[in-house]
Amino acid sequence: MPFTQLQTELDERAAQGLLRQRRMIAGPQSPHVEVDGRLLLSFSSNDYLGLANHPQMIKVLQQGVLQHGLGAGAAHLVSGHSEAHHRLEQRLAAFVEKPAALLFSTGYMANLGAVQALVGRGDTVFADKLNHASLNDAMLLCRADVKRYRHGDTAQLAQLLEQAKSGRKLVITDAVFSMDGDIAPLRELLALCEKHDAWLYVDDAHGFGVLGNEGRGSLSHFSLASPRIIYMATLGKAAGVFGAFVAAEQVVIDTMVNHANSYVYTTATPPALSVAVLESVDLIEQGAALRSHLHGLIGRLREGLADLPWRLMPSDTAIQPLLIGDNHKALALSEGLRERGIWVAAIRPPTVPQGTARLRITLSAAHSVADVDRLIGALHELAC
Ligand SMILES: *Cc1c(COP(=O)(O)O)cnc(C)c1O
Repeated sequence: MPFTQLQTELDERAAQGLLRQRRMIAGPQSPHVEVDGRLLLSFSSNDYLGLANHPQMIKVLQQGVLQHGLGAGAAHLVSGHSEAHHRLEQRLAAFVEKPAALLFSTGYMANLGAVQALVGRGDTVFADKLNHASLNDAMLLCRADVKRYRHGDTAQLAQLLEQAKSGRKLVITDAVFSMDGDIAPLRELLALCEKHDAWLYVDDAHGFGVLGNEGRGSLSHFSLASPRIIYMATLGKAAGVFGAFVAAEQVVIDTMVNHANSYVYTTATPPALSVAVLESVDLIEQGAALRSHLHGLIGRLREGLADLPWRLMPSDTAIQPLLIGDNHKALALSEGLRERGIWVAAIRPPTVPQGTARLRITLSAAHSVADVDRLIGALHELAC
């Protein structure tokens, strides 16, 4: 039996400080979560606006279940496409100022399906080296040629685009890089796509709801609009629920309905979730006070951590990684915070490049100034 081999591989991972383990929480997502019977102050969730346990959304979800039942029963193309899904698609398209939108079950599936529907053999995909794992997997699945450019290096991308002569071209990028928190140079990327007749696929998992006018996301943040842009965002982060969508020209959406396997061959999400997301989009739109509080916290954290021996990575977003480098040190620091009642996850390779293990601090509008001050104080204690 090859089990001993699996165990040896896991043991090796553990020795390198790379073993992944889950922590179980009790009760709802919140800055104060119960973990193993202890209340911890958490800086480890992507619930950037504090909507994941919002009473109004819970109420609307309950009403949604009463109206639509629980399961969708089938895939969208069979009999699972509900009017609740449809209304949400229209609302999301209008919100991000695109002609049409398509719901996917998760962001991971949206990336797999959308990229696979758009490009194939003989085409070329260009990707930032720090893109999310789901985009990397999407590139492998779609069978197109893959060219990866150094993080944010538009000059290198320009060269690569120049070299690709035939087939469709698709440039893929995180809008806000999930483990770094910095924002992609979307304006420059779009200009290159225009010059080389390429599409620009923007994964805004961490920008939707947080950045831009009324939380409309990264395109709004840069005031960018172009039919070349295929926009994807997730609904389980700032939106506080579950799922994802792609917004683009109608012909792109129709192509995905026909060719995106992760759309076609999977059960539609429970329609009541779409009812909850509809409420969430309203809350995002009216969430200026939440976003301004969040930005205040970001500034306070950066100021408070400026004199630590570890460097806070350059980021203006809710993702504020503290670069540690060594895996074991990052784990020890995360453990030190835990002993002080604070939860910040240590992110290690292969999620991030070798030698760049980090504490990924994420802030939420649900945090108070006192919460952030507590984290600043604890990190200073650990630095001594
Ligand atoms: C979280 C994330 C995804 C995946 O979204 P899910 O809905 O959680 O599957 C995709 N892209 C990026 C950049 C992400 O951070």
